[in-house]
Amino acid sequence: MIMNNFTYNALPGRIIFGAGSLQLLADEIDRLGCKRAMVMTTPEQATQGDMVAELLGDRFAVAFNNATMHVPVGVVDQALEVANSADVDCFVGIGGGSTTGLGKALALRSEHPIVAIPTTYAGSEMTPIWGLTDDGVKKTGRDLRVLPATVLYDPDLTMSLPAFIAGPSGVNAIAHSVEALYAPDANPITSLIAEESIRALSQCLVQVVESPDDKQARSQALYGAYLAGSALATTSMSLHHKLCHALGGSFNLPHAEVHTIILPYATRYNAAAAPEAMARICRAMGTDDAAQGLYDLNASIGAKLGLQEIGFTVNDIEKAASIATQNPYANPAEVTYEGVVALLEDACEGVRPK
Ligand code: NAD
Repeated sequence: MIMNNFTYNALPGRIIFGAGSLQLLADEIDRLGCKRAMVMTTPEQATQGDMVAELLGDRFAVAFNNATMHVPVGVVDQALEVANSADVDCFVGIGGGSTTGLGKALALRSEHPIVAIPTTYAGSEMTPIWGLTDDGVKKTGRDLRVLPATVLYDPDLTMSLPAFIAGPSGVNAIAHSVEALYAPDANPITSLIAEESIRALSQCLVQVVESPDDKQARSQALYGAYLAGSALATTSMSLHHKLCHALGGSFNLPHAEVHTIILPYATRYNAAAAPEAMARICRAMGTDDAAQGLYDLNASIGAKLGLQEIGFTVNDIEKAASIATQNPYANPAEVTYEGVVALLEDACEGVRPK
């Protein structure tokens, strides 16, 4: 084997994975030397927040149940006020990327550690990437202070994730791994992690969607999501993420569904320029064409296949292409306006990638 030189900025993190691991939460808070936790959820997951509060016993200080998609700055201000009034010394977030994102924004403005309990496959809990929306504009950045001190992955908590959210959320995770495979700062370790995550997720997602009570499938999906988040954490993202960011931010389209629809087309766009990444995706998915394999996976989980199904129209293509091609991220294939327009035309209709 010929080994190329590489640099790997590995990140610290304590991961506890397994059904029932939520029961270890109070021990984790003690381990961090904390005594007063703020429990954060979205309004939809307030009941799961109550369960967490009960498990915390006298370590529970206050709840904040208003975590919101894309982390509006006003919500962060509100949450910080609640935290300060209750004199909290740590944050416990149970939920998807929106709840984890709130914890990250709070970590930037306080010294308190975060314990993340992810219940979707978004993977944000593993990354030092924060996002904040101010006046309708979403800013993102990287900062090691936003990394959770502990991540508790308990697949039992994902059993309530409805199939229509679980499927696209799983493909959102696969997208992190696809781009990690051809990232300019990919290395053998991140590629191992990314390939294994695509294997784990693509093997179980149909089962997650068709048999929502299958604990083994849910567990495998969460494992794949953890790996995908780890791959995203230390690599730079390319055209796929840039395009999804533009579509989500400027057209207010749902995050995981946009990722799901775009992924086969972004993969096709890069296929010729990233043959090793394509070979790994094919090996992980048991297919001989990465883009078509991803498209077939989307079809098999009943996902929406075209952007027009989520409110985007052909009239939006030019605006989206010009936003996505401004300050493009590094990408294996050259990013051109015409190329992105063609990609979006196919993605709009949801045709099989050519
Ligand atoms: P989300 O957190 O908004 O969750 C979607 C909905 O599902 C919410 O209503 C939530 O309460 C509900 N939900 C979550 N888990 C549930 C469960 N187990 N049972 C029932 N309902 C449940 O969506 P998401 O896709 O997880 O996160 C999207 C956000 O995360 C976006 O803002 C995105 O930008 C961000 N994100 C950030 C990173 C990063 O590294 N910073 C990575 C991925 C995503």
